[in-house]
Amino acid sequence: MTDSRRGLILINTGPGKGKTTAALGTGLRAVGCGMRVLMLQFLKGSWHYGELDGVTPFGENFILKQLGRGFVKVGGAETDPEDLRMVHAAWDEAREAILSGDWDLVILDEINYAIGYGMLDPEVVRKTLLERPEMVHVILTGRNAHPTLVEIADTVTEMREVKHAYQKGILAQRGIEF
Ligand code: ATP
Ligand code: MG
Repeated sequence: MTDSRRGLILINTGPGKGKTTAALGTGLRAVGCGMRVLMLQFLKGSWHYGELDGVTPFGENFILKQLGRGFVKVGGAETDPEDLRMVHAAWDEAREAILSGDWDLVILDEINYAIGYGMLDPEVVRKTLLERPEMVHVILTGRNAHPTLVEIADTVTEMREVKHAYQKGILAQRGIEF
């Protein structure tokens, strides 16, 4: 064990609930430590999540952006070129933010889905993460994290579903799910 400060790569993955909300919790902790946090949400865009307004009191120290439009077609359906364009634009912004050193913590929310859907090359992501300034922390979220990213990550947590209200037919609840 050493107490020297350094940037970490963290991954929140697995089928259970809590990947995005754990990343937001880490963002809250970090901003409370005087750090600057940027959260970029891949694919999301159609729902107005509570966190979009939840971070506004932190001003420029906690910026959250939705860089998708929701409703991405998967499984057999052709990838819509517009969704692909948005993922690539989101990645360009993420890459620049990570390499800039302007942010202490960069959260790439749902990026694992973009990679899993074949919309983003995991090797490109890996290369940027390895090139980042030493002190920058990065969190990646979404199910089925790619092995090449798990390999270089420092902390990987797999959320396991024990049960979920949805299975009882309970719809997503405001403040808990969105
Ligand atoms: P959260 O945003 O609540 O932390 P998550 O990031 O782990 O969830 P995602 O895979 O991003 O989960 O799913 C997004 C949406 O699906 C959220 O509204 C989330 O609450 C909900 N969800 C997450 N896990 C499950 C599950 N096992 N069954 C049904 N719905 C789920
Ligand atoms: Mg999520």
